[in-house]
Parts: sequence; C-alpha cells; structure tokens
Amino acid sequence: MIKPAAVEANQVGAILNIIEEHGFRISAIKKLIMSAEQARNFYIEHKERPFYGELANFMSSADVITLILTKENAVQDFRKLIGATNPEEAAEGTIRKRFAKSMRKNAVHGSDSKESAEREANYFFSKMERF
Ligand code: ADP
Ligand code: MG
Repeated sequence: MIKPAAVEANQVGAILNIIEEHGFRISAIKKLIMSAEQARNFYIEHKERPFYGELANFMSSADVITLILTKENAVQDFRKLIGATNPEEAAEGTIRKRFAKSMRKNAVHGSDSKESAEREANYFFSKMERF
C-alpha cells in the first residue's frame, strides 16, 4: 500500500516505477479511502500499541493506493525494498529512505508474512480484480 502522504505528494508513479524495476508484477491495483474503522481493522494486530489510534486516523485521512505484488519471495524482498519502519534507520536506496516523511508517514506498507499478505490482499480485492 502507498500511504496517504506519499499519494498526496504525487509520489505514486515514482514508487511504482521502483517496485516494477525490482521485478514485482502488479497483480492488482486500486485507489480507495478507508473508513477509520476499516483502517483500525487493517492494523488490528497493533490495537494495544500507543500509536494505533493515530495510525488508523492517518491511514483513513485520504486516498491510498493498494496493491497486490507478485514475485518469488515477494514478502521478504518487498520488506527489504521498503526498508526499516523508522525512516532514520532505513537503508540507502530503500523506498522509505527516499520517500518517508516520518515514522507514521513512512510512504508505504508491506505485509510482514505470507499469512498477512493473504489477509491483506483479501481485505481489498475480489478474485475478479487480481491477475
Ligand atoms: P511496518 O509498517 O514496518 O510493518 P509496524 O507493523 O511495526 O511497521 O507498524 C505499522 C505502522 O505503524 C508503521 O509503518 C508506522 O507507520 C506506524 N508506526 C509504527 N511504530 C510507530 C511509532 N513508534 N510511532 C508512530 N507510528 C508508528
Ligand atoms: Mg507491519
């Protein structure tokens, strides 16, 4: 997912370009705005964390780009491509290093496991919308 701040900053094309250049295929893509409840549900694993409310507010504040990306070893390779959650710790050349504005506004979301990827893909896309 490309987060609201990066969409707002017209960085969608640049981010998608990097993703495709690294061998990911865009199997599904959609722009949408989550309700606060949908964002809280998306991030339900973090519900006890202090940043949960603000995160859900931010993620439902404006439009996001949701994606299903396909590649061998996609979850691990995408996590590597996006870089650390804290952009100050993100490696040179990563998407977060280049586009993040803060810890919360860190440009992109990436699934943390195959199981999360399944759940998150199903959260946004029907079978008819993926190729
Ligand atoms: P990641 O997105 O790298 O998987 P997490 O799953 O731990 O990171 O957290 C989800 C999102 O919550 C992060 O991408 C970030 O936007 C936000 N977040 C995480 N930790 C903090 C924090 N300490 N302060 C503010 N926002 C945070
Ligand atoms: Mg995570």
